[in-house]
Amino acid sequence: MDLVVATGNPHKVDEIRAILAPHGVRVLGLDDLGARVPEPDEPGDTFEENAAIKACAYAAALGRTVLADDSGLEVDALGGRPGVHSARYAGVGATREERDAANNAKLLHELSGMPMDRRTARFVCVICVAAPDGRVVATARGTFDGVIIEAARGSHGFGYDPLLFVPDAGCTSAELDPAEKNRRSHRGQAVRALVPKLLGRA
Ligand code: IMP
Repeated sequence: MDLVVATGNPHKVDEIRAILAPHGVRVLGLDDLGARVPEPDEPGDTFEENAAIKACAYAAALGRTVLADDSGLEVDALGGRPGVHSARYAGVGATREERDAANNAKLLHELSGMPMDRRTARFVCVICVAAPDGRVVATARGTFDGVIIEAARGSHGFGYDPLLFVPDAGCTSAELDPAEKNRRSHRGQAVRALVPKLLGRA
């Protein structure tokens, strides 16, 4: 089966493709289709709502089966923020790299002086697949727990990866190689949970 991943983030497409390709699912990015679909707003208060809005909008616009994810970082000491607002937490930056750097600086600032035992956090990912008629056909969720450290470490991945220390790996998410991150991560877990739901339908 063919599945279009509705994101402009090439890291996400690579992570999802690595898990689904061995199951015979051909994963295409929006760039592979040359598709120009206006990005829908993400007005929801939950990852579930936003993933469904994205998947349904892209599926209906493209007439294809579409997978969309909504993900973010929940920090316990911040009452779950930045949560669904993770991508634009600091609200500045023209490129993804600039936005990531500003978001990470803001997070460190908000947690400055906070002791390590209160810096618990997790990445959350909700994945939704919608059929070409715009109906939701499958949803799955994954989480990836860690602690926000005081200075960035590592160069893999994107976003808040350099700040999430994963205790049982002994390193940050940005220090994990991509295969190991996929084995442990919120997105990896959500995509793996999706496989039986998807293939059961195929
Ligand atoms: P989305 O593209 O609307 O799902 O926003 C996700 C945002 O959450 C990203 O821009 C990152 O800031 C953060 N995020 C989600 N997943 C990850 C991850 O695997 N590593 C680091 N940051 C992530």
